[in-house]
Amino acid sequence: MSEALSQPVRPSATSDLRDWLNVLAARGDLAVAHENMSLIDEIAAVAKRTEREKAVLFPRPGGHPIPVVANLFTQREWVADALGVAETHLLSHVLSAATNPVPSTEVASGPCQDIVHMDVDLLKQLPIPKHNELDSGPYITAGLLISRNPSTGVQNVAIHRCQVSGPNRIGVLLLPRHTLAFFRMAEQAGHALEIAIAIGVHPALLLASQAIAPLDFDEMHIAGALLGRSIDVVKCKTNAVRVPAQAEIVIEGRILPQVREPEGPFGEFPQYYGPRGAREVIEVDAITHRKHPIFHTIVGGSFEHLVMGGVPREATLLQHLKRSFPSVLDVRLTRGGTCRYHLVVKIDKANEGEPKNIIMGAFSGHYDIKQVVVVDKDVDISSSEEIEWAVATRFQADRDLVLVTGAQGSKLDPSSRDGISAKLGFDATAPITTDPLAFRRIQAKGADDVVLANVLEQSPGAAFGRIMAALS
Ligand code: MN
Repeated sequence: MSEALSQPVRPSATSDLRDWLNVLAARGDLAVAHENMSLIDEIAAVAKRTEREKAVLFPRPGGHPIPVVANLFTQREWVADALGVAETHLLSHVLSAATNPVPSTEVASGPCQDIVHMDVDLLKQLPIPKHNELDSGPYITAGLLISRNPSTGVQNVAIHRCQVSGPNRIGVLLLPRHTLAFFRMAEQAGHALEIAIAIGVHPALLLASQAIAPLDFDEMHIAGALLGRSIDVVKCKTNAVRVPAQAEIVIEGRILPQVREPEGPFGEFPQYYGPRGAREVIEVDAITHRKHPIFHTIVGGSFEHLVMGGVPREATLLQHLKRSFPSVLDVRLTRGGTCRYHLVVKIDKANEGEPKNIIMGAFSGHYDIKQVVVVDKDVDISSSEEIEWAVATRFQADRDLVLVTGAQGSKLDPSSRDGISAKLGFDATAPITTDPLAFRRIQAKGADDVVLANVLEQSPGAAFGRIMAALS
């Protein structure tokens, strides 16, 4: 990894949402929808249809003056582009950012506070969409929920699904992670937890929020390292939380102690609904935003949702595996496996049996991992077709399969028994052999280097006509 750690951040790394949208527009990757598409279902439907090709900007959604943007990433490669690194260096760049954080810089003012609303009405002031069919209503899905450790003041940055429950009320799902830890500390002391939700930020901040960092490790500092420059932050108007100065929109509020209200259902990353339940509640105190802000939304279960969580997990899993297995070259959480459950590991195999050790190592890397396929270095792990080919030609179930029953898995996997899950591993590597033809991939010599424009007719129809005329 040392060669990768020294890879410099390219100057193309952008710093706010608008910079990234400018990049996308300049290279033809930003679609613009007609005005007045409905915030209920319609925006999500269009974003879903373009999730593999284009980011989409929706002007005047539902007549609202604030435009909505979706699909900041439609391909894994875009994540690398947004960070200004080559895709081959993406994981090492993410890892290096987590180990070399760049502290934020507090500034006196920022565009995110150009306009201040102390009289809050969420659905009037912001264009908040409803996404999947059976979602309980409009949700804020791309907001960085920033909170402060009540005793140390260290901030945490995470994304939580936020249901609009009333003009100044949000139902929030706090899974057992850092925001919940801070909230429990506040609640036990009888206090609300001050928070802010920053919407419309650079992709690096969204990615950093998904890093597997320890408690009391401010993810904003990882974002600074991802971008190669410190993130400017400003203090909220109504509380002590510091938010990115360049954010488009900030919602300030408090998670109320001893209050739980219904939240959900909501369409989640496994492509199923997370159920309704009694959840924590945010009371909103203020909304601040730029003069003419942009609202970012993530359609639940869209590719943007999957890859945003997948890339930081890949980085952590790669680091975990490399520590024990020097032969590991790269990992991928596949799209079909919801960028969470199915892992592919590429290795430069040195010893027989090693792939099975790697499979067991991967299961211990994260409880979400349900299936591991280990392949050789000649397999392109960004291609599900290539991975299937490796299984088809280098794997025998009676010899190369690893099966573990009754392990901890993902509670969001509906086939698990409340999170109790089996684990499946495939050693799809070729045996180490001295036979030069065994497991040697066929190859049309020069196929990769051929320049088609130099060898194919520009007008094939006319050329075909001439050839057939001569043959008649
Ligand atoms: Mn954290």
